[in-house]
Amino acid sequence: MKLIFERSVPGRRSAILPSCDVEAAPLDEAFARQRELRLPELSETDVSRHYTELSKQVYGVNCGFYPLGSCTMKYNPRIDEEAASLPGFTGIHPLAPEADTKGCRAVLDEAARYLCEISGMDAMTFQPAAGAHGEFTGVLLIKQYHDARGERQRTKIIVPDSAHGTNPATAAMCGYEVVNIASSADGCVDLDALRAALGPDTAGLMLTNPNTVGIFDKNILEITRLVHEAGGLCYYDGANLNAVMGVVRPGDMGFDCIHMNLHKTFATPHGGGGPGAGAVGCKDFLKDFLPRSALMEGEGRLQVRAFAGNFLVVVRALAYLKTLGREGVPEAAKNAVLNANYLMQQIKGSFEPAFDRVCMHEFVLDLSRFKKETGVSALDVAKSLIDRGMHPPTMYFPLIVHEALMLEPTETESKQTLDEAAAVFRDLYRQAYDDPEPMHTAPHGTPIGRPDEVKASRTPVLRWRQD
Ligand SMILES: *Cc1c(COP(=O)(O)O)cnc(C)c1O
Repeated sequence: MKLIFERSVPGRRSAILPSCDVEAAPLDEAFARQRELRLPELSETDVSRHYTELSKQVYGVNCGFYPLGSCTMKYNPRIDEEAASLPGFTGIHPLAPEADTKGCRAVLDEAARYLCEISGMDAMTFQPAAGAHGEFTGVLLIKQYHDARGERQRTKIIVPDSAHGTNPATAAMCGYEVVNIASSADGCVDLDALRAALGPDTAGLMLTNPNTVGIFDKNILEITRLVHEAGGLCYYDGANLNAVMGVVRPGDMGFDCIHMNLHKTFATPHGGGGPGAGAVGCKDFLKDFLPRSALMEGEGRLQVRAFAGNFLVVVRALAYLKTLGREGVPEAAKNAVLNANYLMQQIKGSFEPAFDRVCMHEFVLDLSRFKKETGVSALDVAKSLIDRGMHPPTMYFPLIVHEALMLEPTETESKQTLDEAAAVFRDLYRQAYDDPEPMHTAPHGTPIGRPDEVKASRTPVLRWRQD
């Protein structure tokens, strides 16, 4: 499609402003523009069509099925958006006097109370702006704890090989040495590997449970016990809490601190880079290390972001929790798990699950054998799904499964949608054996088919440069 600058015609206007009827105020030359502002010149019709066309080039949860594993792309109720757009919330200034911010403080306090109850933690901060930022904050709590006890020899953080990439990155950013441990054949933490990694230099363990292959670790209590026994603390990556919220609590599994992605699990749409919130909760003994915030009680030492974080994201989370209620929260979790298992069973006769057992909110397909037999890769299948009106699943993650496709249908999809999706998967499976050629060049119906993925993510060109 044409850029808005390419549609520009000199002199064309959308609006005709009345001529200026006050005296021009002189402006200091230093502040004056040195050359004409080169804005595109278009009629209102052109502008309207341009943005409508642009909107048709994106794919979101409102367009169709979006099973992007480990990302929880679900439909978020519009009522939460409405709550977050109330003028009393949008108009507040972060430096407003305390007397004027009581309502906002009540939102933060109540949301913290609910999320503490869901996670099994005692205190919470909403300062971190995303999941990775929450991990950073949480691991700094662990660091401050050990430092305060004079245990500076604890320099290592253990991370299983199934971890989300942000976990080892976080540990390294906090100055820790990352110790990777292998998973056992059933996708869980290998207890012997964990025992071997633990020692007086262990600061902690970072874990997500269910893990990134969608499996709930049956040894979780033993895992956290072993870490504590070695003097380390346990960090729970709660980015996707869909599978367990209201059902089991990380605090009861033995974890000491956690982050939760409000922009995955709690009603803020996820994608496009934000705004999000990585709420960090911790047990009582860590709470004095939490970041301080202008709107919350308590003087901590740490500050990871200005004021109270992305406040409107917390408003959405609270509205979401209030509409779901005590029964609705676990029901949403159970539906997320049911949907994932249903879809896995529907697809399983063709593509093979990496772990053929009951999954949690997501599951991973292993296309290694399929690729060997057909020459069609996980990437080819993902690209072919785009032509069938579906967003691709997460590809080539987790790294422990080769030719991986990771699907998370979420709780908001109906049986009909899942049936249709499964039919598409079965169809593509057959096509790979009968007529694989078009799959190597898919998608065929999008403006860009196969960008250089590394270049597109490392050096994205997001701005048109005027010459
Ligand atoms: C998404 C995700 C993260 C990172 O969250 P961001 O908000 O993208 O920084 C961390 N861990 C897991 C398991 C995730 O799915």
